[in-house]
Amino acid sequence: MAIGHRAEFEGHFDHLSAGALAFPVCRDCAKMHWYPMTLCPHCQSSRLSWRPVRGVGEIWSWTIVRHAFDQSQAGKLPYVVALVCFADAPGIRLVANIEGVAEADLRIGLPVRLMPPADGQPLTRPVFGPLRAGQASLA
Ligand SMILES: [Zn+2]
Repeated sequence: MAIGHRAEFEGHFDHLSAGALAFPVCRDCAKMHWYPMTLCPHCQSSRLSWRPVRGVGEIWSWTIVRHAFDQSQAGKLPYVVALVCFADAPGIRLVANIEGVAEADLRIGLPVRLMPPADGQPLTRPVFGPLRAGQASLA
């Protein structure tokens, strides 16, 4: 488990560190949800597990951050924060960074995919980049 995160997020960070994306799913009503919770927000069941998804989605919305919220981010400006939605995780919108897309190319519906870590280290936050021809499609 990543240090400093609530226990409900353990599955998220376990999958992310392995380069995968997963969301909580209820074993009673079969619905997924995000953020992780101790009870299903749809039926209040405590029978939850993690369902891996393909890591391919679309930008639902985005913003460009041009001012550092703390000095540790000052050297990274500007950066893109987006809500990403997924065909295999209906109803989920994940807050994530978008990299490798020019500002002029950002648009709602832009196909994106979970990026592997650039330095070979385990992922600690989801970063998405453009889905290019020849990569896994959204279908
Ligand atoms: Zn449920």
